[in-house]
Parts: sequence; C-alpha cells; structure tokens
Amino acid sequence: MISQEQTVKLEKQGYRLVGSHSAVKICEWTKKSLLDKNFCYKEKFYGIKCHRCCQMTSCLACSNSCLFCWRDSSTPLSTYWRWEKFDEPDEIIEKSIAAQRKLLTGFGGNDKVNRKKLKEAMEPMHFALSLVGESMLYPKINGLIKKLHKLGKTTFLVTRGQHPEILGKMEMPTQLYLSIDAPNKDLFNIIDKPLFKEGWERSINCLELMKKFKHRTRTTMRITMLNNINMILPEKYAELVNLAEPMFVEVKGYVWVGSSRKRLKEGNMPSHKEVREFAEKIADKSDYKIVDEKEESRVVLLMKENREDRIMKFD
Ligand code: SF4
Ligand code: SF4
Repeated sequence: MISQEQTVKLEKQGYRLVGSHSAVKICEWTKKSLLDKNFCYKEKFYGIKCHRCCQMTSCLACSNSCLFCWRDSSTPLSTYWRWEKFDEPDEIIEKSIAAQRKLLTGFGGNDKVNRKKLKEAMEPMHFALSLVGESMLYPKINGLIKKLHKLGKTTFLVTRGQHPEILGKMEMPTQLYLSIDAPNKDLFNIIDKPLFKEGWERSINCLELMKKFKHRTRTTMRITMLNNINMILPEKYAELVNLAEPMFVEVKGYVWVGSSRKRLKEGNMPSHKEVREFAEKIADKSDYKIVDEKEESRVVLLMKENREDRIMKFD
C-alpha cells in the first residue's frame, strides 16, 4: 500500500509503519500527559488514560480528502481494499505495541517525564483507531477489534461514514465515532471531498446505522468546526444529531496542523468561545444539551442527559 518513498516521508513526520498497511504515531496529548502537563479531552470526558493510548490506524488509505486533514498526499486513496495482501490482527497488535514502545523509549532520557506513567505507557491499554485513513477498510477489522478486546484493551474507532456496508457488519468498538463535518451535501462535497459520488448519502446511511447501534456500544458523532466555512445552519446539524441519536456529540474546533496548513488558514480555527456558542445553537435545536467542555482542545460535549457511566473506570 505504501511505497518506500512514502514510508520515508511518513517516518519523518513521526509515523511508524506497522506491517504493510497500518501505522502508529505518539499522540501529542500522550506526550503532554507523560510530562504531567495536560491530558486529552477524552480523558476528561470518558476516563481513558491518555498516557496509555496507542494512536494508530489499520488502513492508511482513505476514501476522502478532507480539507482539514493533517495527512499529506503520501497515503493512498481508495473506495475499497484494492491490495492483494493484508496482515493478520495478531501481527498488527504485536507490531503496533512494539512500535509504540520504541517511540516511547525516546522519553526515557527526559528528566521531566513522569516515570510511573512512562512505565505504564509501555503497556498500552487504549487503541485509538483514528490516526489517518479509514481503519474499517482493513478486511479483518472485526478480528482486530475482537482480539484487542480479548486482550483487555479498549478501542475507539473513527470513521468518516463512507462505508455503510462495512459498518453494518462491524464488531462494535468500545466507542464508535462518526465524523460529520457539514450541514448539507454541497458543503460536505467541498469539505470532505469524498471519492464516492454519493458520499453524502453514504454518511446519512451511516448515521441511520448509528441509531441502531445505540444499545450495542457507546456512539459518538463528531463535528469539526471550521471558522468561515461550516459554522452555519445549526438546525441542519441538529437534524443530523436527532437522526443518529448518538450517546455523545462532540463539537470540536479545527486545529491548524500538518498538511491542512497548506489548504486552510489559521483564521479557520474557531476559538473555544465560538465553538461553545455554536454548540449551544445545536443544543437549542436538538434533544441534546452541553454536559462538559475542554477549553484547550476547543471541544464541547453534548448528551441527552449526563450519565455517570460516561466516564469509564480503569485501574
Ligand atoms: S484518545 Fe485520541 S487524543 Fe487522547 S491520547 Fe488517544 S489518540 Fe490522543
Ligand atoms: S477521513 Fe480522516 S484521514 Fe481521511 S482525509 Fe478525512 S480527516 Fe483525513
């Protein structure tokens, strides 16, 4: 899936290729947590241990070219698995953990690192299948999720909602994310640039499926807000929220990082205040209300009702 030249380019950006189509990269929030400087919003909202998170993907290829993606053109685009071979789940897990450990050894020489956390980090507990690409395109995604759960790990899987036929047969991750970044088809085509002509309709199908999954797993709809681009028509976003009835809605500001800096301007990053105000408008027009927020991440969490079990407990 990835050429030697692409591999070199990705490794320069901090990625470590795992097998032939997966990758791992230490999340910036994991680094901050190891330095006791801060932790990610998913630790605040859901209780995951940020320093024990392995940010990865099981498929570097993607079916979209989103404006705000931090990915560059080093990774392939495809609407389906068009490669002859694929790696086994055991191999992906084993090699991802090894790659994560190797990347973490670099922190050993830093006196400011929390030693207890670094030791714990060597045994990742959470697998965020969210790095880049569309993890669910990997033909053995169900086997991978099952195996991770069998090992006592949690899984957060993010999809751009282009593959309802795969989603419909998915083994449920601990938390399923569906990213929706537009209030209508025209803006979706501009922002998410789907390879599928009927990309918007596919997203709607995935939102409908999400509603069916609400008793099977923790479902999340994530809306990435881009100033001057998609912070309009809150009532349309509210319709989409009511359609999917996710357990959680994250309204999150775009961050000007990676290759997205070539496509967008710094001014496209909304402030936390702007994100909150827009989230309030969605809340006003939907059955949801604001239950939490994290200013540094410019993110606001909406739920129908706050629930004690939203924060998972780990040892
Ligand atoms: S859950 Fe996401 S933001 Fe938090 S540490 Fe893992 S990859 Fe980073
Ligand atoms: S779906 Fe994700 S990986 Fe693919 S282009 Fe969009 S943001 Fe990037």
